[in-house]
Parts: sequence; structure tokens; C-alpha cells
Amino acid sequence: MPHRDLRLIIQAALALAHLFLPLLLLFRRRGRRRDYVPLVLYCVLSAVWGLGVALAAQGSNQVSWQLVYIADYVRTDLPVLLAALLVSIGCKSLDRRDHWAWGTAGITWSVVTFGSHLLTRSDAAAARSVTMIAQVGWLVFSCLVIILSARWTLRAPLAFYRNRGIYWLGLLGPLLAGQALALVQDRWGEIVLVPHFLGTTGVTICALANYLPNIKSFLRSVASNMVLAVATALLYALGLVIIQPLFWMGAGLHVPVIGATVVAIVLGLIHHPFHRLIGRIVNRLLWGKGYDPAWIVRDYGRIIGNVLDLEQLATVVVGTISEVLEIQRGALLVITKTEGPVTLRVIEGMGQITRREITLAPASPILLHLTMRGEHFFQYDLDYHRDLQEASYSEKEELRSLDMEIYLPILARERLLGVLVLGPHGKGEPYGSQEVALLATLAQQTAVALQNAYLFGNLRALNAEITQLNEDLRTAYERLKKLDQAKTDFLSIASHELRTPLTVIQGYTDVLTEIAADHSLTPEHAIGITTNLKAGVERLAAVVTAIIDASEIEVKAIDIHRASTTLSAVMATAVGPWREAFEKRHISLTPQGIDDIPPIEADFQRLSQAFGNIISNAIKYTPDGGQVSIEASMVDQEHFEVVIADTGVGIAPEDQPLIFEKFYRVGDLLLHSTGDAKFKGAGPGLGLHIAQGVIEAHGGRIWVESEGYDEERCPGSAFHVLLPLRAGSPVSERRQSDEDKADQRE
Ligand code: ADP
Repeated sequence: MPHRDLRLIIQAALALAHLFLPLLLLFRRRGRRRDYVPLVLYCVLSAVWGLGVALAAQGSNQVSWQLVYIADYVRTDLPVLLAALLVSIGCKSLDRRDHWAWGTAGITWSVVTFGSHLLTRSDAAAARSVTMIAQVGWLVFSCLVIILSARWTLRAPLAFYRNRGIYWLGLLGPLLAGQALALVQDRWGEIVLVPHFLGTTGVTICALANYLPNIKSFLRSVASNMVLAVATALLYALGLVIIQPLFWMGAGLHVPVIGATVVAIVLGLIHHPFHRLIGRIVNRLLWGKGYDPAWIVRDYGRIIGNVLDLEQLATVVVGTISEVLEIQRGALLVITKTEGPVTLRVIEGMGQITRREITLAPASPILLHLTMRGEHFFQYDLDYHRDLQEASYSEKEELRSLDMEIYLPILARERLLGVLVLGPHGKGEPYGSQEVALLATLAQQTAVALQNAYLFGNLRALNAEITQLNEDLRTAYERLKKLDQAKTDFLSIASHELRTPLTVIQGYTDVLTEIAADHSLTPEHAIGITTNLKAGVERLAAVVTAIIDASEIEVKAIDIHRASTTLSAVMATAVGPWREAFEKRHISLTPQGIDDIPPIEADFQRLSQAFGNIISNAIKYTPDGGQVSIEASMVDQEHFEVVIADTGVGIAPEDQPLIFEKFYRVGDLLLHSTGDAKFKGAGPGLGLHIAQGVIEAHGGRIWVESEGYDEERCPGSAFHVLLPLRAGSPVSERRQSDEDKADQRE
């Protein structure tokens, strides 16, 4: 076979060999195949370009000259696209998303130069210019891929990405060198295609491999072995130098033989310690301070065995590991919810970690990897591991935001308790297999401590719950005690409230009978006696009505007769009976905004009664010369609020929830007087209960705000009444409204 034919066959074979690489990619690699589109395209186009290079190198001796022309254009124009695709593959491999733009730019540039070449075929000068444009294009994309790759590699936050970047940069050498040679020379078919094919194979292998050996560590091992070899060689050379004079002395054979034997024994004896010493020095210089895994595991177990608090555990665990591996960040992710999506709480151990929770779907590949396989993974694996890269984007992002490098499961009897997450290695290199094995052992040891901390945490929570329950019970007990007292008081109040007017009535009827019997009853007497009798009967009727109203409220049988009215009319009726009391006690009354409230629909009588009760209290619990204000305002389109505030004695916070209960009255029963407007002249303890019942029956709410009870300072109280413009059925049950009020107080 002629030499030229053989070359053509070899070159064509090299070109076509590029086509095997995409097959490898498609069949060896499961998962997101579309990730490899730029690489597959690169391999296929490299084959086409390689054929172009091979044919162009042969000249028109073997093939038609048209084909050689086309092949030559392929040789010069396709590298632009190939270089642009390299930018695109670089973006993909370093997980950047702007890869399509570069591919498209390369295609455009290539198509334009190829088209121009076809058009300017007959014009050699024009064709040369087009070739130059193609060369410039190639130069632009080549520089771009080198600069961008170097930048991404230097800036990569995690060592695995940096390591991948170093490989990528190394492989760019043969790839770009091959393309550059083809661009400047059309005769170097093999020289062009061999490095290019090797480079493309390297890139394909990188894409297929999850882990690429740590280059720095490899170089360090080589250097360390070289130093050891040289040091050992020097030692033996020294031995030879020492025994050499014995051979020259000419004192017979036995002297050099004995001397050589002695030197050999000495060398044999010191070889091992010498080797170890040099090894230790070299390792110290190249790898830094070493550590003994057995000691670390023992110490670690001892230290974390005493920790019972989760937060403290995270600090101790990460702190201990950081002493060995010089990491700067780390945390414990502890499982807080296992039903449905699994929730992991992030407990910071070291470094600033802002995220507080991570949620993983029950079928998340990440969760399965940690639980089923019980294996660690790297942040880098989320992009490159064939199973983990299937995890949802949000889960990956949540983990990415932690800014960690390695995730180690903490399992107890195949149940995932948590995950130990650690930031990048202190030396800025990927974690080595020995370090990972050590970390996996430490993570496993953490399981017992984590279980203890869980149990302790649960116990503490239970304790807090019991304390809270005790507190609630105590509050309920206090409340019941006060209500019970109120009921006992009621007997005295009721008997007093009813007996006082009854005694009055009884007294006057006796007087009436006596005067009538001795015929001395004058019309003046009759008028005086009946007036007093009427007052007593009215008071009696008022107390009985209040008791009936209260019982109606109790069974929610209070009748509301809605009719159109105005708030000012209601207020006028409510204030009316108390005008005299206001004057007598020198208490000023300032109404505000009442007339601004639009007409309302309500039970006029009931609402007046409710406001009357609140206003009478304001008078009763405000010292002479005080102030009472009634302020009305719209809250929204359908609701208005009335605030009745006084400058009185105020109400203690613990009494505020109770004053709306029936028969509840604050303070000493003996201070009680028969419902007049005297200062602190309490009634039967029904006024506010009735007011609340009426207001809630209108669909409103009432609550009180007061700093507390102080007769000296008189902080005052403000009763808030919120009502709808059109009275409806109560918005909520009484219980609910009580809860609301309790919330407000909080
Ligand atoms: P009473 O008929 O005793 O006034 P209420 O139900 O009207 O009963 O009021 C219950 C308790 O609430 C009163 O005993 C009083 O201690 C307290 N109270 C009501 N309004 C005021 C107020 N404006 N200032 C201070 N305390 C008040």
C-alpha cells in the first residue's frame, strides 16, 4: 500500500474514532443526557473536521479537487465552531447556564465563513481573507474558553469543582493545540488529530467520571516518593563511599569484605528508621500536620458522650472535627418531621448559616441515598452523581444555600436521625478517602449522642409542658376561686340589694298603716310616703330585671328587636339618667364623633341599657372632679367603635377578664352600696355582664383596657365597644370572644 494511502487511512480512522466517544456518553451514562448535547455535538463535528483535515492533507492526488476544496474549508472554518463548543462544554461542566449562547455564536461564525469560502472559491485573495476571519474567530473563542475556565476554576467555592476545572484546563491544551496546528498547516494530519483525539477522549472521560483524582494530591505523592527514593539512594551511596578506601588499601580481601559487611549491616539497621524519618519530614512539609484516626475516634466519643443539648452537641461535634481537618463551617441537620416531607432543622455548629430548615420529599433521591444506602455525598455529587442529580431543583438549591461540601448520614438502626454537614476542607482540597472514612466513623458515633440529646430535649419539653399545665391549672383554680367567691358574695349582695328597698317599703307601709289607723293621714304625708315607696319598688324592679336579663343572657335567649336609629339617640338615652350624677360628682363628660356615625340598625332599648351600664360604672369608679369621654369612630365601612374612657381607679389586669362575668365585682363587698352613683358604689355585679350580652347579641364585641388598679394615681379604664352598623347575629360564640379578649390582653 502506498505511503499516502496509509496516511489517509490512519487519519480517517483517527477522525472517525471521535464518533465512538458520543456512543460511550450515550450508553455508559444514565441520567440527564441532554447535559451532554454540546459534548456529543463536539465529538461528531470533530469527526467531520478530522475527515476534512485528512482529505486536505492528501491534496488532489487521491480525491477530486472539489472535494479537497470543501475539505480545506472544513479544516479552516469548523475550528471556530469547535472552539465555541468548548466554551459551551466548559459552561456545562462547571454548571453554568449560559452555554447555548456560545454554541450559537460559533455556528453563526462558522456558517458565515464557510459560505463566504464557497462564494469566493475562484478568488484566491478573497479566500485568504475569509480564512483569516475564521482564524480570528477561532482565536477569540479559544482565548475566551481559556480565560473563562481559568476564572471559574479559581473562583470555584468547592475543591471538587476546582479539581474538575484543573483537569478541564489541562485538556484544553491538546484540543486547542490540535485545532491551531490544523489552522496554520494543511499537511500535518496525524500531528493535528492525535492530540485532538486524546483531548476529546479526556473530556469524555471527565464527563463520565463522578470523581476525578485529586491532581494536587497525586503530584504531592509523586514528589514525596521521589524525595524518599533520592534520600535512600544517597544513604546507600554514602555507604559505598565509606567502604571504597578499604578496597584501595590493598590489605588483602578480608578487610574490604569485613568492612562492606559492617557497612551493609549498619545500612540494614538504619534503613527502616531513616526511611520513616525522611517520610515523616517530607509528609510534614508536603501535607502539613498529620493525625492519628484511632486517637481522634476515641477522644471524639469521650467528648460528645457528655453532651446532652442539641445546640451544644452541634458546636462540639463540628468544633472537634475542625481541629483535625481545619474546616471553617459545619452544622448538624436534625430530623424534626418524618411524616410526609421530611424536615431537617439546621443547628449551626460553626460559621454563619442563615437557613433554618431543609425539606426533602419522601421519595427524594437525596433522602434515599442517605437512608437506604447510608452513604455520604458531596455537594458536587448533586450535579454529577447519577442518582443525586435527579433530585428536585428546590432541594438542591436548599442544600446549596448551606454552602457545605460534605453530607454524612447519622443513622441508628437504619433510621436516619440527622446529617452531619461540613464545609470545605481547611486546606482547600477535596476530602480524601481516608478523611471521608474517618468522618463517616465520627458521624456514626454522633448517633448515640444525638439520640441522648433528643431524649433529653423531649424530657425538657415534657417538663416545660407539665410546668405550663400546672400554671394553667393554677390560673384556672384562681379564676374558679374568684367566681366561687362572687357567687357567695351574690347571696349577700342579692339579699342586701333586695332587702334594702324591701325594708324601705316595709317601713313606709307600716307608717302608712299606722297613720291611716289613727286617721292622721294628710295628702302631704301620702305623697311623701308613696314617693319613697315608689323609689323602693323601682330599685327592687331594677335589681329583679337585671337578674332576669342576666339569666336570659346565660341561656342566650335575649331578644333583640332591630330598628333604625342613631348612635346619638342611643347615647342620649344612655347618658340621660346619669346627667344629675355627673353634675353632682363634678365629673365632666366629653362626647366626640358620635354624630358622625351613620344611622344604625339596633335594639334601641337594649343598646341604651348596655351603654348606660358602662357609663354608670365610669361615674362610679371615677373620683369627684374626674373626666369621662365617649369617643365614636368608624373602623371600616361596616363597623364603628365607641370608647368610653374615664379617669377612675382603673382595673387590675387579673380582674379584667373577670369583670364581665356575672356577679363579679372587684374589691371588698362591704364597700358595696345600693347602685347609686356614689364613688366606688358597686351594684350587684351584673352591669357589665348584661352590657356584654347585649353587645354580642348585636354581633359586636366589648373589651377593657386599663393599666391597673390604683386609687392614688387613678390610671383610668377604657371600655371599647365594636359594633356593626347593621346589627347581625353574634359573629362568634361567647367562648370565642373570650378567647379573643384573652389574646388581646396578651
Ligand atoms: P357593678 O354592678 O358592681 O358595677 P359591673 O358588672 O358593672 O358590676 O362591674 C363589675 C366590676 O367591674 C365592678 O365591681 C368594678 O369593680 C369593675 N368596674 C367596672 N367598670 C369600671 C370602671 N369604669 N372603672 C373601674 N372599675 C370598673
